[in-house]
Amino acid sequence: MAAELKKLAESRDLTRIERIGAHSHIRGLGLDSSLEARAVSEGMVGQKPARKAAGLILQLIKEGKIAGRAVLLAGQPGTGKTAIAMGLAKSLGEETPFATLSGSELFSLEMSKTEALTQAFRRSIGVRIKEEAEIIEGEVVEIIIDRPVGGAASSSGSSSSAGKTGKLTLKTTDMETVYDLGGKMIEALSKEKVQSGDVIALDKASGKVTKLGRSVGRSREYDAVGPHTKFVRCPDGELQKRKEVVHCVTLHEIDVINSRTQGFLALFTGDTGEIRAEVREQIDTKVAEWREEGKAEIVPGVLFIDEVHMLDIECFSFLNRALENDMAPILVIATNRGITTIRGTTYRSPHGIPADFLDRLLIISTQPYTEDEIRKIIEIRCDEEEVEMSEDSKVLLTKIGTETSLRYAIHLITAAALACQKRRGKAVEMEDISRVYSLFLDVKRSTQYLMEYQSQYMF
Ligand code: ATP
Repeated sequence: MAAELKKLAESRDLTRIERIGAHSHIRGLGLDSSLEARAVSEGMVGQKPARKAAGLILQLIKEGKIAGRAVLLAGQPGTGKTAIAMGLAKSLGEETPFATLSGSELFSLEMSKTEALTQAFRRSIGVRIKEEAEIIEGEVVEIIIDRPVGGAASSSGSSSSAGKTGKLTLKTTDMETVYDLGGKMIEALSKEKVQSGDVIALDKASGKVTKLGRSVGRSREYDAVGPHTKFVRCPDGELQKRKEVVHCVTLHEIDVINSRTQGFLALFTGDTGEIRAEVREQIDTKVAEWREEGKAEIVPGVLFIDEVHMLDIECFSFLNRALENDMAPILVIATNRGITTIRGTTYRSPHGIPADFLDRLLIISTQPYTEDEIRKIIEIRCDEEEVEMSEDSKVLLTKIGTETSLRYAIHLITAAALACQKRRGKAVEMEDISRVYSLFLDVKRSTQYLMEYQSQYMF
């Protein structure tokens, strides 16, 4: 399992060289030390009272006083509800998992609603796993590679190391120790071109070999060791280092790699299907053991559920229960509905949320942006997407943002940059904006178009 977790952490690092997401410019809530919202900070613009309220929630979370409660962001579309939830997660630390789910998704996924909710909860609970790697450091005295059956004797510089074994004599402090070598380690020694007299660091578990320098007489010259390294002097006088390796994964990722029907690749396709309850129980027991042994810590993340009015009464009772769990993430829900029917019932209530769940909520409202704020958000997005844009174009895009929606204006940045690239321009000009504005309709124009040509559509 440790190897799989490592593989997972490494491949996640690779996928981090990722596309620029809609909220990639958000780096926190942009608050000062007294939790007042700065006008423009950490990618955040305006929406000051909501950000300040989110800052107080951050404080509650840090003091461990949020248990059993959730946050409701109520406001019109495009007023930054997702951005604020994301800012909250970022303020809790880079490692804090942030998972999103849209209420309507629950009814279109090929799994039960409660399974989808459980997966979303487990995607937002991080596990920080600490492992100790034993690293032995010393001067190479001799490397002997065994003669393969029927083959010629070879040395450390041999080509293929498959199936080979050997011995490595290392001088550590004042004694020499012989280590058995497996194929992986032989390969590593040969790749690093290790010879007698080299000073190396050997990670016995992973077979990793690092060349630190050459031995110079009695004093050794080699690089300083990295952080998180403890020196341990063993009873026999051997000098070893124990390096703490930390992997951060989510409970859902552990579930998936341990679910026989799913496997590692399912994490990349997103097609994880339903996970059996027994698998989760085993994982929970294992994680509880690791926590007791001090090998793992839980990092509660943020789960953001948008369009919460789409949830039905069963989902709300699931959420009610899930919030009581001691590993529960911070639940932030959002809606732009007023008083409406609770799905699955005939009752009406504020935001379509049942009274017992409403009772658990800290409610924050978001307000529409001013023209100036829209302009600033557009500028930040241009920087984020590395798009150069003329002043006139920014004014035009701001006007479009005010009259249609902020999200539509943000979408046009990428499209206009492509149009600019196509005509080999250096900066996005008014013509690029007009071009993409006429190519892609905003909701208002699209609706008008539908009404005009209604008769030509199928029903
Ligand atoms: P919906 O109700 O439709 O889900 P929303 O209220 O969640 O919308 P967002 O998706 O957060 O709105 O905002 C739309 C876009 O504007 C996103 O790219 C978001 O990052 C950006 N944005 C919104 N508010 C701010 C803000 N205050 N500062 C910087 N960027 C923002």
